Amino acid sequence: MKKLFKTLSLAIAGVILLSGCGGIKNEKNAAENNTRSEYAISDKPVELSLFMVRGDSKYQEDLDVWKEIEKLTNVRLKSVSSKSISDTEQAFNTMMASGNLPDLVMYGNGKEAFSKYGMEGAFASLEELAEENAPNIKAQFDRPVVKAYVTAADGHIYYVPGINPPTVAAGWFIRQDWLDKLGLPVPTDVAQYYNALKAFRENDPNGNGKKDETPYFSRFNGLSDLLGLWDTSNTWNQENGKVYYAPVTQKFKTAFTNIAKWYKEDLIDKEIFTRGGKSRDKLLGDNVGGSTHDWFGSTAQFNNMLKETVPGINFVAFAPPNGKEYSVRDEVIAQGGAISAKSNKKVEAIKFMDFIYSEKGSKFMNFGIEGKHYDMVDGKPTFQDWVVNGDKTAINILQESGACSAFPYIQDFWYEEQWLTPIAKKGVKLYLDNNYLVSKFPTLSYTVEEKTKLNEIMTAIETHMNETTQKWVFGTENVEENYDRFVEQIYSMRLKEAEEIQQNAYDRYIAAQ
Ligand code: CA
Repeated sequence: MKKLFKTLSLAIAGVILLSGCGGIKNEKNAAENNTRSEYAISDKPVELSLFMVRGDSKYQEDLDVWKEIEKLTNVRLKSVSSKSISDTEQAFNTMMASGNLPDLVMYGNGKEAFSKYGMEGAFASLEELAEENAPNIKAQFDRPVVKAYVTAADGHIYYVPGINPPTVAAGWFIRQDWLDKLGLPVPTDVAQYYNALKAFRENDPNGNGKKDETPYFSRFNGLSDLLGLWDTSNTWNQENGKVYYAPVTQKFKTAFTNIAKWYKEDLIDKEIFTRGGKSRDKLLGDNVGGSTHDWFGSTAQFNNMLKETVPGINFVAFAPPNGKEYSVRDEVIAQGGAISAKSNKKVEAIKFMDFIYSEKGSKFMNFGIEGKHYDMVDGKPTFQDWVVNGDKTAINILQESGACSAFPYIQDFWYEEQWLTPIAKKGVKLYLDNNYLVSKFPTLSYTVEEKTKLNEIMTAIETHMNETTQKWVFGTENVEENYDRFVEQIYSMRLKEAEEIQQNAYDRYIAAQ
């Protein structure tokens, strides 16, 4: 083990050395080369210092994608952090505490962190910078859904976010072969879904003579997806602009009355709260899992993966039993990049981020390098076979060359569509074509005071809510008898104050659109 570490650290030292040399050479080349690329941000080579240490995509100067981008833009990024960093949050906090910031800072929890430190003056506000220098970024800031998301509580924008395609993330899956075997229809409402789960439990669809089926399971440690069947959730929502906490509404009571019954009848995995990430592998692999709610892409792969060990398995997406899908993917994400308020290269920095947002830059981030990772086929960047069918996942291969990075970019759905199986594609189409998607309660922006108070109140409330609902599910407390007391308790834990903070933040969100 020790020896391995030694070898590894030597290898890493070698990489640093090489990348240093490579970088200097590139800069020289760029300076000597007088032909200016149409994407050049400056005539002279520019160096921007950068913090970008997300675990799976640390910035390194010798990554192919960034070298190509440097050739086009004349901008070289210079990492300010050590490659050995593993705790991104700690590294970010240490940097913020030092007050010594590079030109560009990339961070996963950007929405909250950039807003907080931006309001304190550490990061540049970007509205004017974008207006004057960055048409691609400005076009995004002009979209209400983006603007409302990135606007801080003081009305300014302090970061450029990653943008996702508007699509559905996950959906309901069921063992179609089990339904067929038992002569059941694909459930089209919650009552039929209950009947299917009940039949899975009672009628031995896996045919081993044992009552070992686990009709509903989830690898996300909880019941969030099931709550959607009764149009509720365990968090915040709004109706006609009025914000409310869903657990104190009647629908929440109805949901848990049903869920407690389903659990008692063994229709829900007995280990639903604890089995965790491997639930899907384990229960489908053992030919006992019947239905779940999960990501289309990965869930649709199980039929192929298990075709030898679970003959006849046909796990397919079906429409949400109540016609509503809540797992809408956020179009704007918290991850993104900000510019230090002290930087003397703010214009170059925003122009560089704008290049990454451009069509040309997006291709690098989504697909890697033309001729190496993808070729243009019928006008579409199409991955080479070794990327999609290699011994690593496509995303790993792309990240190792600098693509799919923590730098904010506009994700192209075609990027993932290329490796979706036909079953996954059919599922996505079913959900999109039938408008099952329900708009989500937005991620809001808070002042530091609001955030502190909200966290304090909600940590206590959520702990209480989780403990109580588990008692209901396990049957140690009766929902009907205890629900009113539960609501009173939540209100006594200062829910009104949290509601007020959420309402104000939501009103600002709407006003910012
Ligand atoms: Ca069985």
